[in-house]
Amino acid sequence: MKISRVSVRHADRSIWGHLAEREKTLPLVTPLDIYPQFQETRGSWFWDSGMAVVQIETDNGIVGHGWCEDGCRATAPVIENHLQRLLVGQSASDVEGLWDRLFRATLPYGRKGSVLQAISAIDIALWDILGKAADKPVYELLGGPVKDSIPVYASALHPVGAHKVAAEAKAYVEEGYKAMKMRFPFGPGNGVDGMRANEEQVACVRNAVGDDIEIMADAYMGWDFLYAKKMCRRLEKYNLAWLEEAFIPDDLDSYAQLRQETNIPISGGEHEYTRFGFKNIIDKQAMDIIQPDLRRCGGFTEARKIAAQAAAAGITLIPHAYGITHIHLALAFPIVPMIEYFPLPCWDELPNVEIEPIFHGEPVPKNGTVTLTAAPGLGVTVNDRIF
Ligand SMILES: [Mg+2]
Repeated sequence: MKISRVSVRHADRSIWGHLAEREKTLPLVTPLDIYPQFQETRGSWFWDSGMAVVQIETDNGIVGHGWCEDGCRATAPVIENHLQRLLVGQSASDVEGLWDRLFRATLPYGRKGSVLQAISAIDIALWDILGKAADKPVYELLGGPVKDSIPVYASALHPVGAHKVAAEAKAYVEEGYKAMKMRFPFGPGNGVDGMRANEEQVACVRNAVGDDIEIMADAYMGWDFLYAKKMCRRLEKYNLAWLEEAFIPDDLDSYAQLRQETNIPISGGEHEYTRFGFKNIIDKQAMDIIQPDLRRCGGFTEARKIAAQAAAAGITLIPHAYGITHIHLALAFPIVPMIEYFPLPCWDELPNVEIEPIFHGEPVPKNGTVTLTAAPGLGVTVNDRIF
């Protein structure tokens, strides 16, 4: 089964669906918050949403799809001008060898970022082909299923005012979610008032859901160590399940130090790449929970190595964001207890955002859990109308 053709399509929409558009306009802490001109919203500095879908065809007529973010349209040129010639004519089932060759061939300009996202999309497409060729779902090829279904946590809870947040949190409990995550509005650029507002957001959610629901909070790389230390002192009484991405991804010393300072579990890794990046996190004992995204970190081939390292180190793996790839991973690996999901908040009508699905066949969680059928490969088809 040889690869006969590799092609890429770009869509001007976010792989995260409605979430990315909403987050652009809301007050959220970000890595650029320390600069007053970028403080107001993420949209003041964020790039335009985009995603790329890679299609790989084989000489026996199997077609596989993989995808990744495609901000600035950086993915397609890497694949079209370089990676596709390393793929065409090669065995589609040689996922290890192909991954290694793509990684080594792009070392001078790759290793992380858009290039690894391109390699991830290719790897996901190859696993789709492997599943279709074997007439088995990807989670079975990975060794699963180790469980019948996966809990999902509701990931939204933006700082839109105490009344809306409380109503949203309660709605998630009624819909069956046992865990939910909020975004912090403020960071070091906003002083003590911002700290108080961050704490009020957490207090509001805890008060709305009671003590039997897990709540988490995400700082989206926007804090520094001193700020985080002070915030953790305020937040410990609310029993957070984790504090996510307190610092920029390369500042692992701050992650490790904060983990020693607070009893709040520390998480991160959605902006980390490859087994080498996650080995650094694990070696530094910087996190209790790692959150790789298969559409960034290197696809299934790399994710199973990251999962193996985490399992050996006693670290929990909860993938970043929703997606069919993460359901397959969670069904196959015992160290993945739940995955993230972006429900539409009960207060949000999003009148200007078209809710055209990216994929046909992607399952929608019910009662706070999700599962997959035994459809071969990834089990979804790409909605051609979004291109
Ligand atoms: Mg996050």
